[in-house]
Amino acid sequence: MPSTAVVWFRRDLRVHDHPALAAAAEGHDRVVPLFVLDERLLHGRFESGPRTAFMLGSLRALDAELRRRGGALCVRSGRPEEVVAQVAAAVGAEAVHWTSDVSPFARRRDDAVTAALRDAGVHGRPHGGNHCADVSLPRTKAGRPMTVFTPFWKAWERLERRDVLAAPERIRLPPGLAPGSLPDGPRLEDELPAPFCAPGEPAGRAALDAWLDGPVDRYADRHDDLIGGTSGLSPHLRWGSISAREVEARARERGGEGAAAFVRQLAWRDFYAHVLLMHPGNARLEFQARYRDLQWDDDDELLQAWCDGRTGYPLVDAGMRQLAASGWMHNRARMVVGSFLTKNLHLDWRRGEWWFGRMLLDGEPAQNNGNWQWIASTGVDPAPYFRRMFNPVLQQQKFDPGGVYVRRWVPELAGVPDDRLAEPWTMSAGQQRAAGCVIGRDYPEPVVDHAIERRAALERYRAAGSA
Ligand SMILES: Cc1cc2nc3c(=O)[nH]c(=O)nc-3n(C[C@H](O)[C@H](O)[C@H](O)COP(=O)(O)OP(=O)(O)OC[C@H]3O[C@@H](n4cnc5c(N)ncnc54)[C@H](O)[C@@H]3O)c2cc1C
Repeated sequence: MPSTAVVWFRRDLRVHDHPALAAAAEGHDRVVPLFVLDERLLHGRFESGPRTAFMLGSLRALDAELRRRGGALCVRSGRPEEVVAQVAAAVGAEAVHWTSDVSPFARRRDDAVTAALRDAGVHGRPHGGNHCADVSLPRTKAGRPMTVFTPFWKAWERLERRDVLAAPERIRLPPGLAPGSLPDGPRLEDELPAPFCAPGEPAGRAALDAWLDGPVDRYADRHDDLIGGTSGLSPHLRWGSISAREVEARARERGGEGAAAFVRQLAWRDFYAHVLLMHPGNARLEFQARYRDLQWDDDDELLQAWCDGRTGYPLVDAGMRQLAASGWMHNRARMVVGSFLTKNLHLDWRRGEWWFGRMLLDGEPAQNNGNWQWIASTGVDPAPYFRRMFNPVLQQQKFDPGGVYVRRWVPELAGVPDDRLAEPWTMSAGQQRAAGCVIGRDYPEPVVDHAIERRAALERYRAAGSA
């Protein structure tokens, strides 16, 4: 009697370096690659048309990779704790393999599936595969979970690594299995005017090859370049269309200063996964209890201006428009718009997290939450709040001195001279006319005064911190 296993795919949409798939293919005669469309996720707290479209594209690519190896993706809809056990029973599976995850939602879901499988007499087998290393392991000398990046990184460097795995050569489905089908939409090109990248494993692997073939060497010096300085791999890492472990291994193989700096960023990804795994309450609340009473304003108009990229601060607006158009934003711009939301508009970081969660192709709970709490100065890896309070004008002058990024995303500023581009409201009426950009008509007045609101934010943080 041939043995059968189910591989339950979630955010690990690839065939290369996939420990759960490799274990199923090695240990069993037949394998059922399963994906469960879960309405709670598709229409949950961070419902996202762009990300759903990217996921569907990644799933189509996964189906093609599986078919090339004799298999197919089996698609079902419903609650995983019911559907996974039903499929396992229907195909007579001995085991269900999956890649473990860290968010509170994912862990509750996995516990429910494990219990349902136990009741059905099927083994539930979680594997690593989403991160470079086992993010559950690092501890401080006192045996506590880690909350500061640098010691985490040093501990992470010493953690054992598993070998990078080849894709299975053949996938044998049980006879008579009906694969089911993926919904037609939403499609990426309908959701975003200028999608940041194409979904799916072949696109992810091609992007990784291209990155490691040269640009990575300049990463240490160029990662703050708002165009082209970084790998752009985050949507593929988010959906697992490339494996973080393989990315790390290949970058280390490449070697050099750029690759080392790049690998350190992958450690940030593992760090925030560790943090959310160890502190699930962070998903809703400030990690630092003293900031849970921080006073936030409740101004929907300001929030809307920020989401639309109409704040009157060109770098902020360029970042927000890049996000809305492409589903991605450069990290430097994310920090600037995050600081602006929390420390100039005084809006709750959760509102920024929500909007990013809706729009980012790479949006995921651990990274989005960890980074929002970082920029709001409420999270782990603490630094005095005034250190993460960015001046959008100075940031633009430093990181986009020629205005290429701002002009790309805020075309109404195209004719503004370089020396006014970070503060277009300082142009005289004549200069505005000459630039074809009248402030208040073609481009908004600044919605707030950075210097004034910075002082107000300092006051609020000081008050909350000493309460
Ligand atoms: C407010 C805010 C929200 C963010 N939300 C997310 C999110 O939802 N998902 C997400 O993947 N990243 C998030 N980031 C982190 C970072 O901006 C992106 O990972 C990065 O811009 C992705 O671009 P890249 O792939 O070109 O990065 P590269 O610079 O090429 O870095 C390589 C990889 O390292 C990881 N990495 C880099 N920087 C960080 C970081 N600060 N934190 C964690 N991992 C990092 C990413 O996986 C990235 O793909 C957020 C940052 C901020 C400031």
